[in-house]
Amino acid sequence: MDRILKGLSRFQKTVYPKHRDLFQKLALGQRPEALFITCADSRIDPCMLTQTKPGELFICRVIGNVVPPYPDAIGGVSATIEYAVGVLGVPDVIVCGHTDCGVMKGVLNPEPLEPLTSVSAWLNYAQPARRAVTQHEEPHDGSEFLLALTERNVVEQLANLRTHPSVAARLEQGDLRLHGWLYDLGEGVVTAYDPDQAAFLPLESSKPKLRAVRRP
Ligand SMILES: [Zn+2]
Repeated sequence: MDRILKGLSRFQKTVYPKHRDLFQKLALGQRPEALFITCADSRIDPCMLTQTKPGELFICRVIGNVVPPYPDAIGGVSATIEYAVGVLGVPDVIVCGHTDCGVMKGVLNPEPLEPLTSVSAWLNYAQPARRAVTQHEEPHDGSEFLLALTERNVVEQLANLRTHPSVAARLEQGDLRLHGWLYDLGEGVVTAYDPDQAAFLPLESSKPKLRAVRRP
């Protein structure tokens, strides 16, 4: 906690004064460019990853970047989506999964998490992804299967997102875009879901060495 308090002090003494104009403008209101839904994992920093400033991303952090289908589990995630899409009018929504996700590992191996009733119930929202991947690949704990599950989970959560009335209405109007990303923590690269190819492909800005990861 000491490091956190020292950081706060440094922010107030040196960082804030440098960006005073930005913060004072933001104090009057926000107009974020996107709703960014990602895992609560401490290794993900959406603003560092996208090089965005305060006010530019409306962020929803939730373990496993899970979006319960509407009207299931009305709560923080659905309210955040409704506010971002229906009130703030964000033009884009990004669902961003990541490698080495503890929640995805928990989906593969749920027994140790069974005493944690809330976590276990939450993991059920990722089971459709497991079932979809299991149809195409041998179920095992290997890294390929974990990656396939993590990718599929993003696709499933995008589908769940479309069930929310605020999202469906904006999609109907044609002024909302949905994006599925997978962030490789160790490599610092992001692949994006291409519905036409049913695969996660490197974003143009990613390292060219990345190969396409095809999934059924
Ligand atoms: Zn995670």
